[in-house]
Amino acid sequence: MTVVQLPEELVALREAIRTFIQREIAPKEAQYAQEITETGTFASLQEEKRALRKRSAAEGYYSLFMPEEAGGGGVGYLGLVLCVEECMRHGLLLAMPGGVLPSVEGPTPILLDGTPTQQERYLQPTMRAEREACFALSEPDAGSDATRIRTRAERADGGWVINGRKHFITHGAEADYVILFAVTDPGKGARGGISCFLVDTDAPGFEVGRRQRTMYDEHQAELVFTDCRVGEDALLGKEGYGFYSAMRWINGGRVSIAAMAVGVAQHLYERMLEYAKVREAFGRRIGANQYVQGMVVDTLAELTQARLLVYDLAARLDAGADGRQEAAMAKYVATEMVGRVADRAIQVFGGNGYMTEMGVERWARFVRAMRLYEGTSEILKTNIARTLGLDEPTRAPAAAAGPAPTP
Ligand SMILES: Cc1cc2nc3c(=O)[nH]c(=O)nc-3n(C[C@H](O)[C@H](O)[C@H](O)COP(=O)(O)OP(=O)(O)OC[C@H]3O[C@@H](n4cnc5c(N)ncnc54)[C@H](O)[C@@H]3O)c2cc1C
Repeated sequence: MTVVQLPEELVALREAIRTFIQREIAPKEAQYAQEITETGTFASLQEEKRALRKRSAAEGYYSLFMPEEAGGGGVGYLGLVLCVEECMRHGLLLAMPGGVLPSVEGPTPILLDGTPTQQERYLQPTMRAEREACFALSEPDAGSDATRIRTRAERADGGWVINGRKHFITHGAEADYVILFAVTDPGKGARGGISCFLVDTDAPGFEVGRRQRTMYDEHQAELVFTDCRVGEDALLGKEGYGFYSAMRWINGGRVSIAAMAVGVAQHLYERMLEYAKVREAFGRRIGANQYVQGMVVDTLAELTQARLLVYDLAARLDAGADGRQEAAMAKYVATEMVGRVADRAIQVFGGNGYMTEMGVERWARFVRAMRLYEGTSEILKTNIARTLGLDEPTRAPAAAAGPAPTP
């Protein structure tokens, strides 16, 4: 493994983000300290995040990871990892995705497939944090196997008519438009039969269905399309290439989640260490006990391992690796790590860790979903195994079997 040298300009960028967080976020969030202590969050979080996104966009942070040609910062994977980790390590709600740096509502390279008119209508205002998106692929019967989606788009009267139902869509109830994946040629499946559309949420026939409450928050929703009519120009990119489009950009999402995991783990490690040094039991600090030391030290060791791996894999992606193995491995290792760390953090804090007022338990709830979205851990392992050639069909010995069967 190469040891990644962090370029000076990326270290400076990380420093600038830290300053932005300390200046714009920490004092603002402190105003809600009482409410956060009582409930684990605060009621105007989304409103404050929306305002923050605009300030972040004005300073160029919000579109850092979009190419310079499109007006973004042109920062690559290693830069993304450093910036996302920095945002998460402070343990501040407003610095989480969708605050300083984009989450699903923000600019995504998928929008670069758009025509100049689509870029002007969707990409540019999204980069300025004036319009917000959601990404609608999953359906009740199609999650890990997204090739099974049934939402259908058919040509009619010079446009498209869409019917179907999406679920678990993050930010689905708040978005201005939907990046929607629908079947345009049922005979072809994912190999040319799925297309991507940009659907405004005021399109006739579109409605937000049930809000889906999770163990962390309530920002997932069902989206329902009933004879939803959109123009010919709603198609994003080439007809039939929607699934390839989604898969092409998935590495960025996976690496970003890996960096979030490292940032949260860093925050929890610092909290555990501090607590282990001050909390007393049996006449001494709890950190003087080897069992507690083990929890803190295992956390530091696993966090350090994961960070080095994520930095290295991000640098490989910047160097041109195709990413199927790198992005999957980064997300798999880092999200499994932070799951263990978040559980340990509660243990080190004892009963206090389980109470909302300590601000520890919410991280265990938040990080749990990281092993599910953008590829479950099992799917990531399957993907990695495929890059190792482990899912090749079994071939009988040549002499006995004659010509090899066509796969
Ligand atoms: C908080 C949250 C936010 C989300 N946001 C969005 C969003 O914005 N947009 C969107 O489109 N989707 C979103 N999703 C959906 C997410 O992408 C899916 O939940 C995920 O792909 C898993 O699909 P599933 O839930 O249907 O699980 P299933 O596919 O039903 O899987 C169930 C279990 O079977 C395992 N499994 C399935 N196939 C295999 C296999 N081949 N080998 C081994 N194990 C397997 C899985 O790993 C899992 O453990 C979100 C989900 C969550 C939890």
